Amino acid sequence: MKLATYEFAGRTGVGVVVNESIVDVTQAFPDMVRLIEAGPSGLIEIRALIASPTSSIPLDQVRLRAPIPTPRRNVMCLGKNYAEHARESYEARGEKVEIPDFPVIFTKATTSVNGPYDDVLLDTAVSAQMDYESELAFVMGRMVKNATRDTAMAAVFGYTVLNDITARDLQTQHKQFFKGKSLDGCCPIGPWIVTADEIPDPHSLGISCRVGGELRQVSNTGEMLFDIPAIIVHLSRGMTLLPGDIIATGTPSGVGFARKPPVYLQPGDVVECEVAGIGTIRNRMVAVG
Ligand code: MG
Repeated sequence: MKLATYEFAGRTGVGVVVNESIVDVTQAFPDMVRLIEAGPSGLIEIRALIASPTSSIPLDQVRLRAPIPTPRRNVMCLGKNYAEHARESYEARGEKVEIPDFPVIFTKATTSVNGPYDDVLLDTAVSAQMDYESELAFVMGRMVKNATRDTAMAAVFGYTVLNDITARDLQTQHKQFFKGKSLDGCCPIGPWIVTADEIPDPHSLGISCRVGGELRQVSNTGEMLFDIPAIIVHLSRGMTLLPGDIIATGTPSGVGFARKPPVYLQPGDVVECEVAGIGTIRNRMVAVG
């Protein structure tokens, strides 16, 4: 199932995308995290609701929001999780190329979360080096600590698409990831969560990014250095993961700052991030002021 958070007639609801419509399930599940926390019985209830829908709204009449518009904690992200992207990043910074033994992990502030088709504001007084990163993200379905490779995948609720928009100049100035990854609106997510049962192998999905229609990134999620079970094993070792946690799995090569010469996002650019079998998010860059 495709599960979405949407705005229609001035209210925010949760629904299931069926063909080109949204079947509202907000009465049963007031928000996406509560739906996720309901576990397998929640999904059974939703299947019953969509079998005899009481109301449905054409998809083109709603504004889709991020599936979890206000996560209860930061979005967790993998850095340098595709070998070619690790290589291009080190080379662009004039550093020695090394493939990490352990995952590079950072977070994006909850206030960076943005809708799948909403504008992203570019404020040149803050950053002149805004860059795209198309990523597959997964959403945790249950509380888990000290997961093993055998138990990890059962804790995944579903998958979505995420653009890890990054202010490269801030990332460089601050010598760590958090600030440059956390500007308002710089984490578009969506258009929905596809439940895990519909993605039998999340490590065989085409992933791409287009800017103004030009293909900038193209790869396959099978190229990840640390696959999803490995990510869950590492993250959950001594640290509890919660239902609704969003974890982005890293970006392939082709980002703007590693191009020669570097190319950064400009007002008017439309960035499309796509993961095959999940969907496409599309965000226009708009100048502040
Ligand atoms: Mg990233």
